[in-house]
Amino acid sequence: MGPKAAATPTEEELRYGAHRVEAYECRSCGQTTRFPRYNHPGKLLETRRGRCGEWANCFTLCCRAMGWDARYGGRIRAAAWRAPPRS
Ligand SMILES: [Zn+2]
Repeated sequence: MGPKAAATPTEEELRYGAHRVEAYECRSCGQTTRFPRYNHPGKLLETRRGRCGEWANCFTLCCRAMGWDARYGGRIRAAAWRAPPRS
């Protein structure tokens, strides 16, 4: 895959919080692959594509489904998922 470029999000992508869409071009055939950066854990479980931030988002959903106290600290590069502060 070639270097990434920004693509314009579709209405569907925006509906699931993908305000950023990366586009990669195959060096062999020139085909472009879109990588919408979804911010909706239900959509992420469907697409099963992402980096640390997307997985942290899904992990937070799973924690909450188990009844555990968790919050998603999106846009934090070093550690997207953090334990909630102790009270
Ligand atoms: Zn190709």
